[in-house]
Amino acid sequence: MSTLTDQVVIVTGASSGIGEATARELGRRGARVVCCARRAERLHELVEAIVGAGGHAIARRCDVTKRDEVAGVVSGAIETWGRIDALVNNAGVMPISHIDALDVDGWDRMIDVNIKGVLYFVAACLPHMFEAGAGHIVNISSTAGRRVIPGGTVYCATKHAVHAISEGLRAELATRDIRVTVVAPGFVKTELQSHVTDERILQRWKEASQKSALTPLESRDIGEAICFALEAPAHVGYNEILVRPTRQEG
Ligand code: NDP
Repeated sequence: MSTLTDQVVIVTGASSGIGEATARELGRRGARVVCCARRAERLHELVEAIVGAGGHAIARRCDVTKRDEVAGVVSGAIETWGRIDALVNNAGVMPISHIDALDVDGWDRMIDVNIKGVLYFVAACLPHMFEAGAGHIVNISSTAGRRVIPGGTVYCATKHAVHAISEGLRAELATRDIRVTVVAPGFVKTELQSHVTDERILQRWKEASQKSALTPLESRDIGEAICFALEAPAHVGYNEILVRPTRQEG
């Protein structure tokens, strides 16, 4: 039996990609999963699939950039299941472009979702974790949180921020028995790449894919890495996990 059995876990960005796969994996391992994102229809299908397979899950529509909606997800989870054992802060956007395109709206969106959304969920969950005297926060960063690529300046900045926030939380929460893990994936084939419209970036990706036969990660690979960290014994904190496709160089 998994140590995740009956653990209450919130997963943000559960309507597709890594978040969806993580919610499925958590459900399979017996966790009680709170699935949130904006696309409610997709969440309902996911919850149906998890429950249909014998698991426990609820769907909560939420825009992570809205503090009141974030607070509503957390209080709803408390009302339904009485506690929050873990938070997987996964929702993210990547409308990357070169700086000279001056896509200030895109910069705002990345800062709001990738940084503020993470912080809003931390703020909403921590009081309950303090009360319980335990908890686990998993923040999804990226290899872009470890290096900066042309065209990705603001996205990389948001993911560097996720690393900084995670390390700050880890150090500050260490004596409260609240664990913090940052998971930094390399290339995972999801909808994330489909939001990019900058021709120079698309051309660079095309050339790179012609040069190297890289097999991208599956969302499930990251879901399993997240579960691995969550299932560790209480005295073990996996603080940082980088997962790249074997053939990914950078
Ligand atoms: P997807 O685009 O498939 O998933 C992104 C998720 O974030 C969706 O469920 C989306 O749901 C949700 N989301 C976006 N904006 C908001 C918002 N304002 N409020 C609530 N939810 C929101 O991409 P991935 O699965 O790839 O991305 C998941 C995470 O992994 C991101 O943080 C990303 O940066 C990171 N990552 C991805 C990599 C990759 O190669 N794919 C590599 C490294 C990191 P909805 O639109 O329904 O709200």
